[in-house]
Amino acid sequence: MAVAICPGTFDPITRGHVDIITRASSIFDTVIVAILVNHGKRQMFSTEERLEMLRVACAHLPNVEIDHFEGLLVDYVRKRGAHVVIRGLRAVSDFEFEMTMALMNRKLDPNIETMYIMASMEYSFLSSSIVKEVAALGGDIRCLVPAPIAERVAARCRGEA
Ligand code: ADP
Repeated sequence: MAVAICPGTFDPITRGHVDIITRASSIFDTVIVAILVNHGKRQMFSTEERLEMLRVACAHLPNVEIDHFEGLLVDYVRKRGAHVVIRGLRAVSDFEFEMTMALMNRKLDPNIETMYIMASMEYSFLSSSIVKEVAALGGDIRCLVPAPIAERVAARCRGEA
């Protein structure tokens, strides 16, 4: 059974993430979307909140599982019995960081392969940070994040939740 891990911060999940997860789920038997818990980096949403938003946004994808992990990605990938890491690539600006991560992960475990899915045209400008900026300034983010997530993000940015 082919299992792939989609790691990320997902603070919050965007339509660009859902696009990559959906496309990965049509290739692999199981896709595990895993939040990397990074205590050093302050996020807008707690790990629990992000897990819940991922569950809601991926509820229609039966072979997608939601999880979280701490520490090295390669250790987590091994623990879950997977060999593939899926990442999305938006612009050239993603490339250098992704190349460094992929090469380092291969050094740490040559049995784990990182594979990339090109962002769809309509989401190639989209990131969690731009969503937060737009929402904080009162912009409409419904076309940027899954519908059930939009109001939660807007409320948090307004300081209401
Ligand atoms: P990270 O902090 O690890 O980059 P993110 O939550 O920002 O985590 O992203 C998780 C993954 O989703 C990364 O591979 C990232 O490149 C990809 N991604 C983010 N936004 C988009 C998008 N709009 N289209 C395609 N892939 C995306």
